[in-house]
Amino acid sequence: MEKCRLSSGLEKFGEQVFAGLDSQVAEALNKALEGLELSVEEAETLLSTRGFEFQVLLLAADWVRKRRVGETVTFVVNRNVNFTNVCQVRCSFCAFSRPPNASDAYLLKPETVAERAAEAWKSGATEVCLQGGIHPQIGLEYYAEVLKAVKSVVPRIHTHAYSPMEVHYAAEKAGVSIGEALKVLREAGLDSMPGTAAEILDDRVRAVLCPRKLNVERWVEVVKTAHRLGIPTTCTMMYGHVDSVRHRAGHLALLRSLQKETGGFTEFVPLSFIYPKTPLYLEGLAKPGATGIEDLKLHAVARLMLQGWIDNIQASWVKLGPKLAQAALYAGANDLGGTLMEENISKAAGATAGEHMPPSELVRIIKEAGRTPAQRTTTYQIIKIYS
Ligand code: SF4
Repeated sequence: MEKCRLSSGLEKFGEQVFAGLDSQVAEALNKALEGLELSVEEAETLLSTRGFEFQVLLLAADWVRKRRVGETVTFVVNRNVNFTNVCQVRCSFCAFSRPPNASDAYLLKPETVAERAAEAWKSGATEVCLQGGIHPQIGLEYYAEVLKAVKSVVPRIHTHAYSPMEVHYAAEKAGVSIGEALKVLREAGLDSMPGTAAEILDDRVRAVLCPRKLNVERWVEVVKTAHRLGIPTTCTMMYGHVDSVRHRAGHLALLRSLQKETGGFTEFVPLSFIYPKTPLYLEGLAKPGATGIEDLKLHAVARLMLQGWIDNIQASWVKLGPKLAQAALYAGANDLGGTLMEENISKAAGATAGEHMPPSELVRIIKEAGRTPAQRTTTYQIIKIYS
C-alpha cells in the first residue's frame, strides 16, 4: 500500500491535536512511547483523560501494543465449570453465591466436572477453568479430587483452577500453609490458576466489596507462592464500583512490581463490574459500572503501565460485550479470552453477552478489526493461526 504524504490539512490537524495536550498527559505519553516506566501518578493522569487526550491515549496504547506483541490477537478454546454456587463469603458485588439451603444451591460431584471437561476436550477445548463459591462442606480434599477426576478422564486438558481465595480457604481449613496446599493441588493435576479474587488490591476498598475475603497481603502471598512453585497465574482487576482512578493505578503498579519479582503472570484481565443484580448496586453503594470510555482507558493504561512486564492484555467479551471488546483491540488489548461454553457468575450479576462465543465468531471479530486471529494455549503458545 502506498503511504500518504502529509498534506497541509493533516499537518495542521496533527499540530493542533498534539499542541492541545495537557503537559502532564503529554509527558506521561511521551515516557510510555519511549518504553519508560509510568508512575502511579502518571497512570492516574492518563486514566483521567478526556476528549482528544483520551483519543491520543488510545493511539499510544495501540502503538505500544503493536511494537510489543504485533498484530496477532489470541483466544483460548476452553470451558468454564463453576462447580458450586454455595458460598459463605457473600461479597457485596456478587449475585452468583447462594446459602447452602437455597432451592437452587448446587455442588457438582468431581465425576460430573470431569464429564464436562471430557465433553469440552471432545469439542476442541484445550483448557477447563474451574472456580466456585466457598462452600462450607468442601475444602482441599474436594479441590484435589476434582483435579484428579478431570485428569483421569482427559489427561492432556489444561486445568486452570481455583482463585487465590479458594486456595487460601482450602489451606486454612486443612491447617496447612499456602505452599503445602498448592503442592497438593499441583500433584493432583493443577496446571495454572486464575488470578481472580483480586478485585481492587486495596484493603479499604475490599472492606466495602468483600470484607470476608482474603486481604491484599494474603492475595499477594498466594500468588507469589504459586509462581515460586512454577504454577503460572493470570492477574485481574474488577473496577467500576466504588473505586477511583487512584485505586486502579495503584493496583496496576502492584501487579507490575509482583511481576518483576516472580515473572509468573501470563496476562492481565480487566474485569468491568457487572452491576444490575448485585447487592452492592441495589443497595445504592456503587455506581452502575464503568462507562465504555472508562473501559477503554483502563485497557490502554494497563498496556502502557505494564509494558515489558505483562504484555498480554485481555479484553473480556463477557464483561464488555463483543462489540466493546472488539473496540478494545484498538486500545491496547491483544487477547479476547476464552470461548467459555458456560458462564454463570457474570450472567447472575446481569451480564447479557451470553455464555459461549464460538471460535468462528472470535475469528470474525478479530479479522474485522484488521488483525490476525490465533488460537492459543492457556500459557500463550500459538496452536493455530487463522490467516
Ligand atoms: S465472589 Fe466468590 S467468594 Fe465472593 S461471594 Fe461470590 S462466589 Fe463467594
